[in-house]
Amino acid sequence: MAAFGSVFMPKMALATFENNQWSEASIVGSDSIQLHPGAHVLHYSSTCFEGLKAFRHEDGSVHVFRMDQNIKRLAQSSRLLSLPTLDEEQVAKMILDVVAEYGSDVPEPPGSMYIRPTHIGTEAAVGKAAAPTATSMLYVLLSPVGDYFTGGAKALRLLLDETGMRCAPHMGMIKSGGNYASALGPMMKAKAEVQADQILFCPNGDVQETGAANFLLIDGNEIITKGLDSSFLHGVTRSSILTLAADLGMTVTERDLTVTELLERSAKPEVEAVLSGTAAVLTSVGTFIHNDKEYKVGTGEPGPTAQKLRQALNDIQWGKAEDNHNWLTKVC
Ligand SMILES: *Cc1c(COP(=O)(O)O)cnc(C)c1O
Repeated sequence: MAAFGSVFMPKMALATFENNQWSEASIVGSDSIQLHPGAHVLHYSSTCFEGLKAFRHEDGSVHVFRMDQNIKRLAQSSRLLSLPTLDEEQVAKMILDVVAEYGSDVPEPPGSMYIRPTHIGTEAAVGKAAAPTATSMLYVLLSPVGDYFTGGAKALRLLLDETGMRCAPHMGMIKSGGNYASALGPMMKAKAEVQADQILFCPNGDVQETGAANFLLIDGNEIITKGLDSSFLHGVTRSSILTLAADLGMTVTERDLTVTELLERSAKPEVEAVLSGTAAVLTSVGTFIHNDKEYKVGTGEPGPTAQKLRQALNDIQWGKAEDNHNWLTKVC
């Protein structure tokens, strides 16, 4: 099967910002865009993106999940990067229009249609290293995706890194390209040297997140994760899982967590650790690697609470459970 995110629908929604205003959005071919080689994004990384999904229900209808949250975050990323201000209603319409265009191509569960809104600075101005782009382009790409866990869900090995950082601290809550490039070097090194699947960035012992997913610790009936601050990406999956955990009667604790406490708690057999994000929903962590030692998390295998929470979220997304929090928007 094709790798996640490598197949695209042939058209996308696109709008441009020029002369201080947004153009009308249109549906255009998705195989290319025209960009000046001096475009601001290519030199000074004025770029941000989002990732959300549309789901097919049993009756054939198609629904997007928590679109408002992703649009708000894209608007925030754009603002923090000094990109032109988004017209949030226009973005919503672009998403709904392009998903509707491909409504019949939205895969059945466990597949879905991955939606990738992208906002880039297009002004041809290599002199603007210290000035914002005056023009930009916003497009919404679609990629049908299958079950993320085709190989079977395997618990991940995470390297706990207390010295490095995922990105510059003031960039943590921005979903911007440069942050991922910044985490690649350390990640490739961790893969090669200790066969880690991911790095859990814990600068000065403060447990933050991995390269592209949030981290949550499950200790019996309690779920613990770092409280929102500007140092990390505020995941929609993280917030959804915390809400569902509370619905299920779990204690939700949002606070700082140190590496020391993490390793202490993980030694208990009932403890689970998970990564959360739109692509994989919840992925279990089986092993921490820290200062050349390996620590099993609980049993070292995917646990029952992670499974229960993932199921609760999937059931809402797939229309099998009541959408009590109004997270779905019907597209067609
Ligand atoms: C996208 C992302 C997440 C997960 O966010 P979701 O809204 O749950 O998909 C977490 N951390 C980083 C760094 C991300 O880029």
